[in-house]
Amino acid sequence: MNAVTQLQSSIKNPHLLFIGGKWQKPAGSGKLTVISPVTEQAIMTFPEASTADVDAAVAAARKAFDTGPWPRMSAQDRGKALLKVAELLRARLPELAATWTAQVGAPISLTQYLSGQPPQLFEYYGKLIQSYKLIDERVGSYKEKARIVKEPVGVCAAITPWNAPLVLLCYKVAAGLAAGCTIVAKPAPETPADAYILAECIEAAGIPPGVFNLIPAGRETGDYLIRHPGIDKISFTGSSAAGRHIAAVAAERLARTSFELGGKSAAIFLEDADVAKALPSLVQFSMPITGQVCFSLTRVLVPEKRKQEILDAYVAAIKTVKVGDPMDPATQMGPLAMQRQLTRVQGYIAKGKEEGAKLALGGGRPKGFDRGWYVEPTVFTDVQPSMTIAREEIFGPVVSFISYTDIDDAVRKANDTIYGLHGAVYTQDAEHGYEVARRVRSGSVTVNGLIVDPELPFGGFKQSGTGREGGVEGLDTYFEMKTIYFA
Ligand code: NAD
Repeated sequence: MNAVTQLQSSIKNPHLLFIGGKWQKPAGSGKLTVISPVTEQAIMTFPEASTADVDAAVAAARKAFDTGPWPRMSAQDRGKALLKVAELLRARLPELAATWTAQVGAPISLTQYLSGQPPQLFEYYGKLIQSYKLIDERVGSYKEKARIVKEPVGVCAAITPWNAPLVLLCYKVAAGLAAGCTIVAKPAPETPADAYILAECIEAAGIPPGVFNLIPAGRETGDYLIRHPGIDKISFTGSSAAGRHIAAVAAERLARTSFELGGKSAAIFLEDADVAKALPSLVQFSMPITGQVCFSLTRVLVPEKRKQEILDAYVAAIKTVKVGDPMDPATQMGPLAMQRQLTRVQGYIAKGKEEGAKLALGGGRPKGFDRGWYVEPTVFTDVQPSMTIAREEIFGPVVSFISYTDIDDAVRKANDTIYGLHGAVYTQDAEHGYEVARRVRSGSVTVNGLIVDPELPFGGFKQSGTGREGGVEGLDTYFEMKTIYFA
């Protein structure tokens, strides 16, 4: 079965929305069309939720939160329900991988591996909540007794982008449900399919009606959702531009928020870096999913005197990356996910040339691909930190080599960005790498590679976001704290 037929056969109710524990007809007639990035053909349609559907979903989530069993259930029982969701998701791993690949064009070898993260997140938070300290007994400064209790923050809007649709949604849903929140999920309009599989698993796990609601839609309906007075918290993953807007809207009513936004992460090669050892991770994580990953290492900072050597080695390694049909297990890079992504990436490549960066590799469309939104892996050198390609998030397979004079210059250049999501430091001295990592203003840094572990906190400094997802910290953002005194 190919990815498209697997996707088409995976989803039971692709013409309905999941609201209040039932598969319901949408209020309007809008449609979302999923288009294959390989064939450029429509492969499936889903309903586009309208504002009336938002009202229904928020009302269902509100009822489930205000009067339903979920927030009042023991943490043990909520945990058990999450473990059941994990088991059901795990049983559908091949479908999850194929669904991701069919919609986004991410290589199947990668989606097969990373599709383990949604069940991992449900298992992790399912177990964590069972041992999490929700009540802290204290004696205060007036010798009074107090209990500091953590209570679920309420009804949460979970809004996610298209690049890693289910992984990003599950960070929010697994943590939010573990805390006792109820959720209205609005996946990206280009990739709604995975969330349908999640809704089916949540339903089959017996989670009470209204606790999870699914309303795929575009940004206008999303905007209505974030303004809805019934929403207590907005958990948003997407662009920094949308994040800034949503933060402003949320500020009006002081709705709780957490943001996972864009990035422009730097890989710093220290003077002693072993290039051969660095290449496998740099090649993989400078352009994962055709560069459409927030934490991609898109700026490579190299010492002036080793600039040419590192560039040559990287370009030679990137030339071996197999571009092709993402369903082929040998493919390492598929097409961009959509037409507008191709237009965007081509625009940045033109801008790089125009502003004087030197093209070291790629820059065009790969030969032999008449169809599909393919673009060549592209490397620019002699990039100045002031150039547009060094400053803006391209979200495509375009890497900028920037040279530095000394370590202070390297750190200054790494931090010369509005973003601060991830980063890497390559060196043979891990403790020195740690010292440099401490100077990089970003939410994570990996010494000698790139790791994002769902069981550890992930998130941004600066305009890459606020709050953290993953780990214990990712659960904490779904609680309010209450102090109860005994007078
Ligand atoms: P986007 O901001 O355009 O859209 C993301 C989601 O937000 C979509 O579901 C969209 O419909 C919705 N949306 C947009 N405007 C909205 C509004 N005003 N109100 C409510 N919903 C709204 O981003 P995109 O192009 O889909 O995704 C790519 C971006 O996501 C990149 O910047 C990337 O770095 C970022 N991203 C960040 C992370 C992270 O964890 N930090 C992970 C993946 C992607």
